[in-house]
Amino acid sequence: AQQTSRGSYKLYNAELSAIMSNKARLLFDLKAAIEKRQLSVVYQPQFCVQENRMTGLEVLVRWNHPERGVISPAEFIPLAEQNSLICGITDFVMRQAIDELTEHGLLYRDVQRVSFNVSAADFNGNESCDRFLANLSQLPGDWSVIELELTESAALLNLEGVRQVLEKLTAKGVQVSLDDFGTGYSSLNTLRLLPIQEVKIDQSFVKDIVQNKQDAKLVKTILAMAQALHLRVVAEGVETHAQANYLMTAGCQEFQGFLYARPMSINHLITFIKNLKQR
Ligand code: C2E
Ligand code: CA
Ligand code: CA
Ligand code: CA
Repeated sequence: AQQTSRGSYKLYNAELSAIMSNKARLLFDLKAAIEKRQLSVVYQPQFCVQENRMTGLEVLVRWNHPERGVISPAEFIPLAEQNSLICGITDFVMRQAIDELTEHGLLYRDVQRVSFNVSAADFNGNESCDRFLANLSQLPGDWSVIELELTESAALLNLEGVRQVLEKLTAKGVQVSLDDFGTGYSSLNTLRLLPIQEVKIDQSFVKDIVQNKQDAKLVKTILAMAQALHLRVVAEGVETHAQANYLMTAGCQEFQGFLYARPMSINHLITFIKNLKQR
């Protein structure tokens, strides 16, 4: 028995160190990825289905690793957050998207809102507000086209820092959306303490909305609350007509998900918008 347990301990150690060096390797590569231009951005449209129009875009980062192919942000964003690389990524994503969208004349004309994901660490330190201001300084017009998507867990990590920066940015017109709404511990408190104009109903609620009565009731409650507080609501992760119909009947106005459009490169977005206009 002794030998077995020593054997399995050894195996565990070997596996652990394999994972560790994998992570360390990934971190090493990530540090260089921005300079090597391996990061890019994609855009996922959002729609008002009732009015049959595109209401905005969510910007999502992609990492094209030379050996490993496309690495999901779900894998490298947490790593970046733990190792203070997130600010460099946020700066890149904001500047790149604003650049691409202005260069092709989409911003303000076809695209009325661009949403960026931000992390708790984006709000650390005295210079964090100046970073946002610098990233947005190239905007050719009104800052109300810009929206920051913040999760409640990110907000709660640094509530006072987040609040101070958001107050300054919203005074300049920037919009704020509470991402993954309903999945945290104190969503209502976050709404109360921060200047927020939109909530995004988390995919996990949308997923089973048709079958699960409890989820359906929660979504209806979120919609009623949002209406009372004059908040916009975007449902995310909408994949089926059944989900969309259910959400529409419940009063949801804005939709994002594979049913309507997948995240796409700027070139695909240009074609996508052309086709929308010809419909
Ligand atoms: P999120 O902010 O909740 O973004 C939505 C995710 O759901 C995206 O995954 C999107 O591709 C995916 N999605 C959209 N529609 C559907 C659908 O109908 N069905 C399903 N199953 N999925 C759908 P993605 O691009 O892999 O991003 C994962 C997460 O990584 C994001 O979740 C966000 O938390 C983070 N992330 C992505 N880009 C950035 C960024 O630039 N900065 C930061 N800080 N985080 C980012
Ligand atoms: Ca988001
Ligand atoms: Ca989300
Ligand atoms: Ca999420």
